[in-house]
Amino acid sequence: MQNQTIAELGAGLRAGEFSSVELTQHFLQRIERLDGELNSLVTVTAEAALAAAEAADRQLETGESSPLMGIPIIQKDIFCTRGVKTSCGSRMLDNFISPYDATVTQRLLQAGAVSLGKANMDEFAMGSSNETSYYGPVKNPWDTSRVPGGSSGGSAAAVAARLAVAATGTDTGGSIRQPAALCGITGLKPTYGRVSRFGMIAFASSLDQAGPMTHSAEDAALLLQTMAGFDEKDSTSANEPVPDYSEGLNDSLQGLRIGLPKEYFGEGLDPAVAASIESAIDVYRELGAEVKEISLPNSGLAVPTYYVVAPAECSSNLSRFDGVRFGYRCDNPRDLEDLYKRSRGEGFGPEVKRRIMIGTYALSAGYYDAYYLKAQKTRHLISDDFKQAFAEVDVIMGPTAPTTAFGLGEKVDDPVTMYLNDIYTIATNLAGLPGMSLPVEPANGLPVGLQIIGDYFAEAKLLNVAHRFQQETDWHKLTPEGFA
Ligand code: GLN
Repeated sequence: MQNQTIAELGAGLRAGEFSSVELTQHFLQRIERLDGELNSLVTVTAEAALAAAEAADRQLETGESSPLMGIPIIQKDIFCTRGVKTSCGSRMLDNFISPYDATVTQRLLQAGAVSLGKANMDEFAMGSSNETSYYGPVKNPWDTSRVPGGSSGGSAAAVAARLAVAATGTDTGGSIRQPAALCGITGLKPTYGRVSRFGMIAFASSLDQAGPMTHSAEDAALLLQTMAGFDEKDSTSANEPVPDYSEGLNDSLQGLRIGLPKEYFGEGLDPAVAASIESAIDVYRELGAEVKEISLPNSGLAVPTYYVVAPAECSSNLSRFDGVRFGYRCDNPRDLEDLYKRSRGEGFGPEVKRRIMIGTYALSAGYYDAYYLKAQKTRHLISDDFKQAFAEVDVIMGPTAPTTAFGLGEKVDDPVTMYLNDIYTIATNLAGLPGMSLPVEPANGLPVGLQIIGDYFAEAKLLNVAHRFQQETDWHKLTPEGFA
């Protein structure tokens, strides 16, 4: 059962081959048996899951149900979930029980999805390896001595290990696509504004975006269908109609114009990863696509721009965690100042503190023009590169990450090396564009992700392009040993 897609499980549920309660129990047992080693979940909500499954079974009996009815999923612990601990991977929120649901959560539950629990993640979504979590690192199911990527590492590992059929993730600089690549699953970061950020704990508000993490593009389409759409509770949510994402999945790719940015194939890219990407591009050539080299000349500015913009926004967003209203509070504060200082000092981990300090510095009166304002300008240059590229091509392709999964502990003491893991994903967040990662031929015995970047609101096109590849190849069906 665990190897089936949402579409297949949905068909089984509707045909009465098994019930949602049975399906939910099956995944809960897998979690119990297998997650001790992986640490992909912070909270398991078995009781609530079984109650939701029972309700889904009753709804299924009526013959009227949505494609997600009774389907077990996992939510990244960045989404507020009513009555359930919402930790964001931080000691700061270890005691936080959310009083309300994020819009994403609410929409998924309303559609009948069964939430099995909350996925481990880098603290406040800051990281590329899931090693900054207060709850300890997540292990990559393909090789448990390696990282799953981050910050949605728990979501990616759980889906790869078949602990749920799908998961939600968020992507500020690559956190859906990079862990999807390192764990061999399919991940989609939508256009900024496509999915509501209401109730999603903010890291960098102008970059954060939620999306699906699944086994296939077909499943990603089903999840995104429910997640996407205008939300009056999020002032940056786009008031654009949501197309039917499943409808065009099989459209022909004859004549599709693919651009390969030369900057994404240069120094720093593992040759074995490059070879896998090139053979994936060959599949597209066979499907009738036209492939040409393009240039995104300002690509080199993406990582430095991001590491001014994201810390600046995080320093502002995280100022709300002060030990007063919710979250961690230090013991026996002497006075208000001591309460603030020690609550924040003890509640946040080292990577979060590093970002808050960088951001506060970049925003300070004397340095604002030199850093923040400059970063806003380079951000424009990066967006313009994409604008020009999309005048010539329909989609851009390249690697999602420069290497396959690296070892636990390998980069944790060197933040700059860690930051370079997102070198190919960060620019799309700065520009607000949608991006996807899908598994291609493994390299070094580990998963590799092909990244597909589209123009604004081109999610349906990305899903179509990914789905056609998955019709031709079986890389997305590979299962890590011991988790089949
Ligand atoms: N790895 C990047 C960072 O550490 C991106 C994280 C994310 O997308 N949430 O900020």
